[in-house]
Amino acid sequence: MADDFNAEQRRYLEGFAAGIGAARMTGGLALGPGAPAAPAEPTGPDAPHIKAQDATVKAGGKLCEQEKWKRAESPFEGHNRLIAEAATGKAPKPEDNFRWRYHGMFWVAPNQVSYMCRLRIPNGILHHWQFAGVADLADAHGGGYVHVTTRANLQVREIAPEHAQPFLDGLTDIGLTARGAGADNIRNVTGSSTAGIDAQELLDTRPLAKSWHTWILNDRTLYGLPRKFNVAFDGGGVMPTLEETNDIGFQAVEVLDGAAVAPGVWMRLVLGGISGHRDLARDTGIVVRPGDCNAVADAIIRVFIENGDRTNRNKARMKYVLDAWGFDKYLAAVEDKLGRRLDRVAPEHVAPRRATDRFAHVGVHAQAQPGLNWVGVVLPVGKMTSDQVRALAAIARECGDGQIRLTVWQNFIMSGVPDARVAEVESRVEALGLTTKAAGIRSGLVACTGSRGCKFAAADTKGHALVIAEHVERTVRDLDVPVNVHLTGCHHSCAQHYIGDIGLIGAKVVVSEEGDTVEGYDIVVGGGFAENPKIGTEIWKAVKAEDCPGRVEALLRAYLARRESPAESFQH
Ligand code: SF4
Repeated sequence: MADDFNAEQRRYLEGFAAGIGAARMTGGLALGPGAPAAPAEPTGPDAPHIKAQDATVKAGGKLCEQEKWKRAESPFEGHNRLIAEAATGKAPKPEDNFRWRYHGMFWVAPNQVSYMCRLRIPNGILHHWQFAGVADLADAHGGGYVHVTTRANLQVREIAPEHAQPFLDGLTDIGLTARGAGADNIRNVTGSSTAGIDAQELLDTRPLAKSWHTWILNDRTLYGLPRKFNVAFDGGGVMPTLEETNDIGFQAVEVLDGAAVAPGVWMRLVLGGISGHRDLARDTGIVVRPGDCNAVADAIIRVFIENGDRTNRNKARMKYVLDAWGFDKYLAAVEDKLGRRLDRVAPEHVAPRRATDRFAHVGVHAQAQPGLNWVGVVLPVGKMTSDQVRALAAIARECGDGQIRLTVWQNFIMSGVPDARVAEVESRVEALGLTTKAAGIRSGLVACTGSRGCKFAAADTKGHALVIAEHVERTVRDLDVPVNVHLTGCHHSCAQHYIGDIGLIGAKVVVSEEGDTVEGYDIVVGGGFAENPKIGTEIWKAVKAEDCPGRVEALLRAYLARRESPAESFQH
């Protein structure tokens, strides 16, 4: 590793390892209720976790560029320098763009010459005043609009360099944080959107998601993984959490009499989900007591930290360690870390997951609490103007329990709405140009940022998604079931096209012998999640974007003509 540093860096790091840097580490950070202080733990070259990270490099190969950046300067230690440089209005160098991502800020030029900020919202739940506060920040520092992401999170775009830190300071003021929301860190913690209000749920995921959020933010050795990492908690309720697309999924299950562990509600451990690489998380056979989830996830991640590939970004996710080792070896290493054997149950001793409702995130649904309802609002590919956000926050405050619950379907629900106020909520939402009405195509329409704001995109996913929706609404009027159509701009798969009924992944389509290209998509069908997890099958390659609405129409017509009942999915 010594070869990766110049003399000045080594001198700095030696002082850092001796405790000088550690003492300074928390000094430059603005910490609020959403961002507890990280412990002052050495992160220099002698720190145990940094040494462990070199294990794969010692085995051969060269550190990739991002790993060198991590070692050259800690993104936390260097934050004051980043702030000072951003205040001059300058674009960040690539290595500083990477470091800003530890603080949730992504420089997204050339598509937009500005930062995008991705927040952290554990379990996707925030108070109405935080929701409105984000809108105020989007007006003061960003483009005046807010996006809901597929990790039940919020993003604000068009933040000028000199506004980057003021925006983050504003988040602190409203009890939110963006720390660790990008780069090689554990991303926003998702949980069941209907936690605590769902009559069907086995377990309320809110305390688990919040506790894990706090756990990872407070441990400096859990930043700077080989690659990004996702963890989700599903409570077994009516709305899917898509935990099978996460590196670690904890699924609430009912263990039956006769199992090797006590009957009752446990968290089943599924591992290795990364839908963009055509893999869904698989059942390990392990069940965990809810209170042990943090310790088990921590051990899983530390095995990954020590053994993930730090030389090739394309093979750096945990899935590739699992593929190379197999589950048995990986789980044995996890048990070594924990110092105990994990509990296992045979599948026949676990009750099947209760059925999900594909419309649970849209429209009016009775809560577990008599007389109260949650109301799901449809957002056109996840976008709201700041004015809409503030007005929606006011509706939640005046007509509901004041909470906004973001979902992985790029929308949100308001909870705690009394029966007598439901009609008022619906009409006030309609007055904002939005709707609560479930519709076959728009309720399941998911699109990543696309070429309007992401340099990786091969197509304008959000724009094309809306064109497809308009076309289908005009041409397939008898569509009587919800259909998930996911558009993603590149192989990073932010919109999880492989689990949609119909998935489109951006592709440049060659249209002339000279090699001219236009925007288009490869099209897959038959993906699924929750009770029917499945990676979709590619049926068309390189379809021009202008032809995609017709192809989606043709698929829907074929489905309607051939199905035996509306209950039949695209997978059959
Ligand atoms: Fe960008 Fe690709 Fe993610 Fe879409 S899927 S937002 S194009 S990285």
